[in-house]
Amino acid sequence: MNFEQFSLDPRILAGVKAAGYASPTPIQQQAIPVVMQGRDVLGLAQTGTGKTAAFMLPILNRLTSGKLGPVRALIIAPTRELAEQIHQTAVSLGKKTKIRSLAIYGGVAKGPQAAALRRGAEIVVACPGRLLDHMNDRTIDLSQVEVLVLDEADRMCDMGFLPDIRRILNQLPKQRQTLFFSATMPDEIRGLADGILQNPVTVQIDLIAPAKTVSHALYPVPEGLKAKLLLAQLQQVATGRVLIFTRTKHRARNLASDLDNRGYRVTALQGNMAQNQRQRAIDGFRRGDYDILVATDIAARGIDVADISHVINFDMPDTADAYIHRSGRTGRAELTGEAITLTVPSDESTVREIERALGTRLERRRLADFDYGAFVPEKQPVAYPSSPTRGNYNARSLNRSTGNGAANRGGQRQATNYNSRQATPNNGGVGESSSSNGNGSGNGANRRRRPSGRYLQR
Ligand code: AMP
Repeated sequence: MNFEQFSLDPRILAGVKAAGYASPTPIQQQAIPVVMQGRDVLGLAQTGTGKTAAFMLPILNRLTSGKLGPVRALIIAPTRELAEQIHQTAVSLGKKTKIRSLAIYGGVAKGPQAAALRRGAEIVVACPGRLLDHMNDRTIDLSQVEVLVLDEADRMCDMGFLPDIRRILNQLPKQRQTLFFSATMPDEIRGLADGILQNPVTVQIDLIAPAKTVSHALYPVPEGLKAKLLLAQLQQVATGRVLIFTRTKHRARNLASDLDNRGYRVTALQGNMAQNQRQRAIDGFRRGDYDILVATDIAARGIDVADISHVINFDMPDTADAYIHRSGRTGRAELTGEAITLTVPSDESTVREIERALGTRLERRRLADFDYGAFVPEKQPVAYPSSPTRGNYNARSLNRSTGNGAANRGGQRQATNYNSRQATPNNGGVGESSSSNGNGSGNGANRRRRPSGRYLQR
């Protein structure tokens, strides 16, 4: 399958080529033809599936004919980072056209945005709050909007944007095409979608397509030993770019500063930072100035960094959905990755929820040579039901390259696998051929196909 089959304008195909997209992703295959027909779409897909281009290419195609100047496509996104990323996709894919895109979000001055709007932009990518400001100031005219996209609708709802969205919707032309994307469909979101979509086509991509390349492991630990265990892991495990999640902004800041004091190349990303600080952190992480980014869920939303080798949940996320989102940040673009979660005894019910969602039991591990004191990781509750219902996930692939064959710096074994249900004689992983598992002796040559083995520097 290739992009030529969509009958896109040649200038847009040139943008696709320049972006280096060889063939459409599954969501693009499903969504592009129906969006080009003008149908409303309900897209169940998350970041990392290629959904931005799935709606952007047909939008650009539509805008190549008709008037230049007025805002004809409005895309609403929950965070500045996501808005900026969507805007950059529009610029990159549309660079051979005359179509202009503008990103509008808070945390930066309104004046330059108003000036750019006066000069004209056919695509506006906006966060709800700042968009309403411009609507109230009458610095934006949305009367000619032909296409509306609501991206990451569930996250907008979580962040309390629903009333703002409704206010915005009230002022848009009723005659329009609406594309609605959400990774999950709680009742509130379903209600919103039902209210604004007309006879939509549903396109659904299995949750976290990257899961095939992600291995998952739990490290039970008492709360008081979490920081120590994390440090021991960072020393023992061969890691490249690491994304660490904490529950609160405060914990993200403290953990980052702790790691910084110990000589790690680390930065934090949390909601209290000014926009330019956030951008510096993201750019620095992407460029490789930092090996570790410590973030909260909301702050990390929409960051697109391709070669994250490890996602470490320093704190267990609140829900299985959030876990899936976080772990989907690694194992992108066919690279393999590991999701490591430090679990405390009170996380048990969430562990169970995640295992149900994944349809497999997550491997519990003990970190070798770590002093757990009186705590016995092996005695932590094993929550997996006896006959699991499979979720959308491939249990075999979930456990691929579970890391105990990892090429760590010292070549020593860094984890003891004591989960007999999944153990195989040589490596404790399951199902995969030995070539993708490493071999438990530090030879992980096939384990992670990243261009270079970058290890944490101290
Ligand atoms: P998204 O889900 O829109 O956040 O996209 C995730 C990543 O996939 C982005 O870095 C895109 O540039 C990239 N991408 C999107 N479509 C394709 C494609 N057809 N081929 C290769 N990469 C793609």
